[in-house]
Amino acid sequence: MTRWIEETLHPHWRVGLEASRVLHEAGTGHQHLVIFANPTWGTVLMLDGVCQLTTNDEFVYHEMMAHVPLMALEKPKRVLVIGGGDGGVLREVLKHPSVTKAVLCEIDRTVIDAVLAHMPEVPGKAFEDQRTEVVIADGQKYVAETDERFDAVMVDSSEPIGPSAALHAREFLAGCKRALKPGGVLVTQNGLPFLFPERLHGTTAALASLFKRVSPYLCVQPSYFGGPFALNWASDDKHLLKLDAKDLEKRRRKRGIDELKCWTPEVHVAAFALPAYMQSLVDGAIAHAECDDEQSAKVEAPSDEAKTRTKTKQRE
Ligand code: SAM
Repeated sequence: MTRWIEETLHPHWRVGLEASRVLHEAGTGHQHLVIFANPTWGTVLMLDGVCQLTTNDEFVYHEMMAHVPLMALEKPKRVLVIGGGDGGVLREVLKHPSVTKAVLCEIDRTVIDAVLAHMPEVPGKAFEDQRTEVVIADGQKYVAETDERFDAVMVDSSEPIGPSAALHAREFLAGCKRALKPGGVLVTQNGLPFLFPERLHGTTAALASLFKRVSPYLCVQPSYFGGPFALNWASDDKHLLKLDAKDLEKRRRKRGIDELKCWTPEVHVAAFALPAYMQSLVDGAIAHAECDDEQSAKVEAPSDEAKTRTKTKQRE
């Protein structure tokens, strides 16, 4: 009899995927992992009842998480990926010739081993690349303690369930800021805003209290059911988002990055355009963070320069 595997993310509706063949299933000690074949989606990885990726559409999310920050940076050298044990983001990061080191901090080694065994096309040769360093550790602890500083930090976490829950908290995002070089970029996965608006609001507010420029952007990952998927962008360098499609195309060519299936200079620029229902939520979150700043300003009495910065965050 055909087995159907259901996503259990939503309390009132379910998505079921036919498992024509289960390739691997295990409790890893951190989470429940299942990898199976599906005629529509290819090979599917689910963790704790949530679809993480399918081999047929993973390129969308992985390209948008890696190339949006890296194409915006003039010469990114050091990159940190938190989570991302499937190696898809790492694979895209390593396409940038200026990258000299890419650290992947994954809590669960079983994810890496299972993906290498059953969906090796996702990481490709990323784990063999001389520039890759794999750290098996909790990402929250890593960013709080590392002495390394990165041009870009990418948080390729799962939904805020199980070991990933901590990767959605302000304390962790503050740790990511600590691990960035001045003017570096942090991107995070931020879920489906139509279904989980409070997540986009919470992360945006937290990032706005830490960085000068916060700007969520979107991609459409067909296997993440429920509308466009949000990634969030934060940096203290407000100029990085001013590049236009022509500048980005020049960079793409100079770096010799061809044959991408989702990212284009035009998609990069357009991804930051939000539908009105999301834009108002984001504006509200940033205003909320400014209020919080003002509250703490009363306590901490910051400099005039800091006060001006808070007031102009929205207008930049
Ligand atoms: N693209 C996927 C998505 O948005 O659903 C996420 C992919 S990736 C498989 C997520 C990874 O984050 C998992 O392999 C999981 O083990 C890892 N992870 C969860 N919590 C973590 C933590 N605290 N530190 C480091 N890695 C973590």
